[in-house]
Amino acid sequence: MNNPTSMLDFRLPDEAFEMLGLLREVCEKEIVPRRAEMDAKEQFPTEIFQKFAQAGLFAPMFDEKYGGYNLGGMLTVIAIEVVSEYCLGVATSLGAVKLGALPIEHGGTEEQKMKYLPKLAAGEMIAAFALTEPNAGSDVPNLQTTAVKKGDRYVLNGTKQWITNAGQADVYSVFALTDKSKGPRGMSCFIVEKGTKGLSFGKLEDKMGIRCSHTRQVIFEDCEIPEENLVGLKPNQGFIHAIKTLNSSRPFIASMAVGLAQGAYREAVKYARQREQFGKNIINFQVVQHMLADMVVKIEAARLLAYRAAKYSAENHPETAKHSAIAKYYSSEIAVQVCNDALQLHGGYGFTKDYPVEKMFRDSKILTIYEGTSQIQKNEIAAYVIKESNKLV
Ligand SMILES: Cc1cc2nc3c(=O)[nH]c(=O)nc-3n(C[C@H](O)[C@H](O)[C@H](O)COP(=O)(O)OP(=O)(O)OC[C@H]3O[C@@H](n4cnc5c(N)ncnc54)[C@H](O)[C@@H]3O)c2cc1C
Repeated sequence: MNNPTSMLDFRLPDEAFEMLGLLREVCEKEIVPRRAEMDAKEQFPTEIFQKFAQAGLFAPMFDEKYGGYNLGGMLTVIAIEVVSEYCLGVATSLGAVKLGALPIEHGGTEEQKMKYLPKLAAGEMIAAFALTEPNAGSDVPNLQTTAVKKGDRYVLNGTKQWITNAGQADVYSVFALTDKSKGPRGMSCFIVEKGTKGLSFGKLEDKMGIRCSHTRQVIFEDCEIPEENLVGLKPNQGFIHAIKTLNSSRPFIASMAVGLAQGAYREAVKYARQREQFGKNIINFQVVQHMLADMVVKIEAARLLAYRAAKYSAENHPETAKHSAIAKYYSSEIAVQVCNDALQLHGGYGFTKDYPVEKMFRDSKILTIYEGTSQIQKNEIAAYVIKESNKLV
């Protein structure tokens, strides 16, 4: 059985706080002055990524063995939370680098890991994760993209939908069917490098939020890749790689939600302290105080769920999937509520682009959609409820 004391021990060494302090400094200096313009113009955060790379700030997402500094995974979740406090668009694209790397981390050969992970940890390469298709969103088993073996190569055909970092990324983890007769169990994962003949990208999606994070289709037309780019060199293992990836990436989405909610809460407190109505600052109204209190409770609860899920995932705990779904579901839903309330506390001013809560409110909605909608998370949690129900009666 799991030891509940060690389970909840989130202590980090002092060097981790130095790194998080540096990350916060870079976010304050590089993201805050640019985020509104990047949002309006849908500008990818290339310069910010360069600053992150110069400061060694991709390292918290990767294992020490591959040039990273993630302290068993806990630093990843906290670093992503910090960036999300400043801009969920930047955090989404940064998180997608890790998401693209995860199938290699979970299923790749040592050679594949050594080829890609150190470059990703150094910020020299950007990754993307390409699973979703136009007709396979929640319904992942309905994947249609194929990979047919031809000599020592695989030929990919199909279209991936809503791919974060598409067009910007140097390397793509792509899921395709190598054995159609096996359905999802006939799925494999491939590493496809940008510039490969037959790989192209769709139009830049004009999104409601996280607009600096680029989202496009990824299109494969007789795209030939060498067989050594099959993750783990074994075909038909893609479904396992995808499930492991999603179970370990959902805590990161939860931490993005926590960070965004924390940022919105901070803006709400700041505004409530200075906005005067009826002769006093609105923070003096008990109704306002209660709204702020509700925000704090939700954020604190979500943070604990996110950290626990991250720890479970790092430890390969058998209940990782359940706790990742719980954390992702709860944190993303409360982020939408907190951003909504933070905007409400700004009154009419919050409805304009003069205040960051307007963008935070728009950004928040994606959290309940990508990497499995809230309904899909609840399906997953409910499956555990049913499985464990006999223990409760
Ligand atoms: C901005 C953005 C970035 C993304 N980035 C990536 C990426 O980098 N890589 C990637 O592979 N994908 C990515 N996605 C895809 C994302 O994961 C999917 O959009 C998501 O899983 C939902 O799929 P869908 O959009 O097809 O919705 P659908 O699956 O069509 O769902 C529509 C509605 O039906 C509900 N629904 C569907 N099935 C069920 C069910 N069984 N029970 C109850 N309700 C159900 C859903 O909850 C939803 O409300 C991204 C999406 C967006 C919008």
